[in-house]
Amino acid sequence: MNNLLKGKVAVVTGGTRGIGYAIVKKYLEAGAITVLCGSREETAMKALEKIKAEMPEAQVDAIWPNLSDRSEVSAAFEGIKERYGSLDILANNAGISQNTPLFDYKDEDFDKILNLNIKALYACSRAAAQIMKEQGGGVIINTSSIVSFNGQGTGCGYPTSKFAVNGLTKSLSRELGPYKIRVNAVAPGVTRTDMVAVLPDEMIQPIIKNIPMGRMAEPEDIANAFLFLASDLASYISGAILPVAGAVVI
Ligand code: NAD
Repeated sequence: MNNLLKGKVAVVTGGTRGIGYAIVKKYLEAGAITVLCGSREETAMKALEKIKAEMPEAQVDAIWPNLSDRSEVSAAFEGIKERYGSLDILANNAGISQNTPLFDYKDEDFDKILNLNIKALYACSRAAAQIMKEQGGGVIINTSSIVSFNGQGTGCGYPTSKFAVNGLTKSLSRELGPYKIRVNAVAPGVTRTDMVAVLPDEMIQPIIKNIPMGRMAEPEDIANAFLFLASDLASYISGAILPVAGAVVI
């Protein structure tokens, strides 16, 4: 337990598993009241019960708005502010990926990726920024990816969405700076979560071989960056895209 986020209220999208779940735990350990966001009531409540069992002292809650629906997100975030007094930190982490080659890509899958990976970030950022502006400040941290720098060899929708995450991050950092709202992104390398578990071993092994630090990231490696950027230790950092990828260059 540390007090890096004591007195803060945080919301983490995609907080039910993987990187998001690790961020929720990290924020709770740092003393923040933390609300995890799930895609469905059932998975959100299951994750909430799991955290409560692991950390009985923690102040944790759960919501499950449709992240692409700005009015639903706004109502959910306003609810957090009413219940807990503020909304200080937004970790925009929910995301999906797909590795389909270009000529097999379904148009609806391209839309689905952009809808969650970027449109939901816009909706959540806008709803949170409204509250943060009124209360005099806050922090937004987006989940980008190491593929947001040079793309990837197949599955073009995913890197496209993450390039857009970087664009939104840099643009909002400039627009929201005057309101004392910092906006940054973390760009993880390949990380041990369900997203990677579905990839074939013959795809993963060459990727790991190419990582100078010799291993893939654990969700906690990524969550540590989310903690740093949410805390006052990063008080003058805004508009940054922080790679957390074991020195890999792709
Ligand atoms: P994951 O599949 O384990 O978790 C994804 C999270 O997003 C889950 O909590 C899920 O409930 C949520 N989600 C999925 N669809 C949703 C929807 N329609 N509405 C609301 N929430 C939804 O994956 P992860 O690896 O933990 O991914 C988290 C973030 O990290 C994503 O943005 C991903 O792009 C990014 N990322 C992951 C890696 C990696 O190697 N795992 C690398 C770079 C970036």
